Amino acid sequence: MKGLKQFRVKPGRAVRLAEIDPAWTGGFKDKDEAREALRRNIERMSKLQYRLYAQKKYALLIVLQGMDASGKDGTIRQVMSGLNPQSCCVKAFKEPTPEELDHDFLWRIHRVAPARGEIGIFNRSHYEDVLVVRVHDLVPRAVWRRRYDQIQAFERILAANDVIILKFFLHISRAEQRRRLEERLTDPSKNWKVAPSDFKERKFWGAYQRAYEEAMTRCSTRRAPWFVIPADHKWFRNWAVSQVIVETLESLRMKFPKPVLTGREKLE
Ligand code: ATP
Ligand code: MG
Repeated sequence: MKGLKQFRVKPGRAVRLAEIDPAWTGGFKDKDEAREALRRNIERMSKLQYRLYAQKKYALLIVLQGMDASGKDGTIRQVMSGLNPQSCCVKAFKEPTPEELDHDFLWRIHRVAPARGEIGIFNRSHYEDVLVVRVHDLVPRAVWRRRYDQIQAFERILAANDVIILKFFLHISRAEQRRRLEERLTDPSKNWKVAPSDFKERKFWGAYQRAYEEAMTRCSTRRAPWFVIPADHKWFRNWAVSQVIVETLESLRMKFPKPVLTGREKLE
């Protein structure tokens, strides 16, 4: 089963989240089959990462977005578990600091974008500036409205400089979010994950869905596509994200750099 085509938001096509089933599980017969497919993808990712690092031509930027409890952390923990930390960097974007607020909204993003040879994973991203900021009117409407074009321009610069960009929206249902938040309240090992803001934000579900729809409709481009990942089932979500990453990296046909030496040099 292919991942790239079925989850990708086609440039210029309006996203309607209500038409995409968050509980979809593709053609898998059961969890175990999907877990086995994930395991194979994790192995492939590890080999592809090695080439990416050796070749030092491309950088890979993975953006993870989604409602609270949609599984951004879990995706990192499980899908990225086979990566070598040497050339991989995870960055979580929280509320901006006063210093960050004194700059343009992309300043804190660009400075931690992955270098050639590296994989950069963003847990939340510059998209918060057209999501939470829009939903709560944190800046005037005219200001966030301009940001869609600015984001497109920024991502175009990265892509033109060999940064491969993959953006994932982890699509969960409102009922599944409720279930997960309840579990965070009752399971002592998950209490720490829950914040009062999660319950407040839940009230804005509709506004967030609309904000996501517009962000993905306006900013899914050929070189920086958005993918809507059905994420009610963690095992399917993990496979789907890994599949898109593997297919993308394989399409680059990365080669090891040519040897600098002939191989016939004499060692003392
Ligand atoms: P978890 O899923 O584990 O709760 P999290 O990513 O939600 O992790 P938190 O510290 O709970 O981490 O929340 C970070 C908060 O920062 C989010 O509510 C997010 O909307 C907010 N945030 C991120 N970027 C911005 C921004 N540019 N402006 C305002 N708020 C932002
Ligand atoms: Mg949170």
